[in-house]
Amino acid sequence: MLKLGKGKKEEKQAANQQLIKKTNLTLIFNLINKYGSISRAELAHVTGLSPTTVSSLAEELIRHDIIFETGEGNTTTSGRKPIMLEVNPNGGYISSIEINEKGYVFSLYNLKCNLVIEKKIEITEYNKIGFLIIRTIEETLLELKIPEEKLFGICLGVPGLIDIVNNRITTSTIVPIDENNDFYEHIKNRFDGITIFLGNESWFSAYAEKEFGTDVNVNNLVFIDINTGVGAGIIVDGKIFTGSQGLAGEIGHMTIDMNGPLCKCGNRGCLETMISIPAIAESIISKTGYESSSKSSPYISITDDCTKSSSQIDFIQKAYYGNNSIAREVVDLAAKRLAFGITNIVNFINPEIVVIGGEITKLGEEFLEKIKYYMKDIQLKPNRGKVELKYSTLKGNTVTLGGAKYILDNILNPGILLHTYQ
Ligand SMILES: [Zn+2]
Repeated sequence: MLKLGKGKKEEKQAANQQLIKKTNLTLIFNLINKYGSISRAELAHVTGLSPTTVSSLAEELIRHDIIFETGEGNTTTSGRKPIMLEVNPNGGYISSIEINEKGYVFSLYNLKCNLVIEKKIEITEYNKIGFLIIRTIEETLLELKIPEEKLFGICLGVPGLIDIVNNRITTSTIVPIDENNDFYEHIKNRFDGITIFLGNESWFSAYAEKEFGTDVNVNNLVFIDINTGVGAGIIVDGKIFTGSQGLAGEIGHMTIDMNGPLCKCGNRGCLETMISIPAIAESIISKTGYESSSKSSPYISITDDCTKSSSQIDFIQKAYYGNNSIAREVVDLAAKRLAFGITNIVNFINPEIVVIGGEITKLGEEFLEKIKYYMKDIQLKPNRGKVELKYSTLKGNTVTLGGAKYILDNILNPGILLHTYQ
C-alpha cells in the first residue's frame, strides 16, 4: 500500500472534507427546494445529519443568498415555533436554451423556476452557435445586472439524437448540427465549473409535463411529441431516462408493421412512417388522388404548402372535420396505429400518464378519444383505466421550462460556491 507523507495525508483529508461539505450543501439545498419550506430540525431529521452540521450548512447557503429564513412554522409541541428556510428566488439563475430551426430561444429562470426573461434569437450560422449562445448569456446577465457567479446552470435542449457520452448532437433532421459541432465544449470552457446539461428537447418537455402539467404527483411519465417526426421523453422514477448513450425514447422507430413502408432509418413500418403529420397528410393526398378519378370522390383542395408540417396539419384537420370520408378513414387508422404504439410503451414502462404533444393535438379531442377507444381492448387488464392518456395543456416553451426545472431539481450543485467564493 502506498504510504502517504504527513502533508499528502492532510491534503487528502481536507479534499475529502470539502467533498463531503459540497455533497451536504447540495443535499440541503435540494431538500429545501423540494419541500418549499422546511425547518433546520426537520432537515436534520430527514438527512440524519447532526443539528449543528445542518445549521452550519444552512448558514453558508444564507450567507450566499441562496436561501433565506421566513416566518415561524407550525409545531405540534408546545415548544418554540421553528424558523423556516426557503429558497431565495433571486439567489441564483439557470439559463435554459432551446435550439430550433430558426436559431434558439434563450430563457433565464430564477431558483423558483419563474421565467425572468426570454429572447428569440434568429441565426443562420449554426457553426457559430456556441459563441452566439455565450454572447447572449453574457449580454443578458449584464443587462439584468446579475453577477456571473449567480449563474448556476445551463440547459441545452435540441431536436436531434444526442450522444450523452461525448455531449454532441449525433444527427438532426431539424437543425444543421452534427457530431463535428463542438458548441457544448465552447460553452463548457467559458462557464467552467457550473452545471451544463445537453439533452433532447422531448426529455425536457416530458419533465415539464411531470412537474407542471398534472395535478397529481407523477414519477413515471411518457411524453410523445408528434410533428414532422415522432419523438418521446421518458421519465422513470422522477428522472429523465436517457439510456446508456442518450437514445432512449426513439419511439418513432418502433416497428408497428414489419411489412410496412420503408423508413429513413432502414427498417420497415416504423411508427413515424405511419403517424407523423407528413405521413398522414401524404396518405390522404395519395388516396384522394386515386379516388378523384371516380365520380363519387369527395373533393379536397390541396395547396402547394402541403409540404410543411404546420400547413399539413391544417389540411388534415380541415379534411377530417369537413367529413371527407377518406380523411376520416386515414385519421382513424392513424389513431389505431398510435394506440398500438402507446400500448407497447405502456407495457414496457408502466407509466402513470402518457402525454401527447406537438402539432397532432390540433386534431382535437375526437382523435384522442379514438386512440383511447382502440387502446381499451389491447391493454393488459391491470392497466385498463389506470393509465391516463391526455394532450399537453402547458403554455409557453416547455423545453426551456422543463430543462431549467430539471437542473434545479436534479443536478444543481450549490457546492460550486466553495470554489467560487474561496
Ligand atoms: Zn425508422
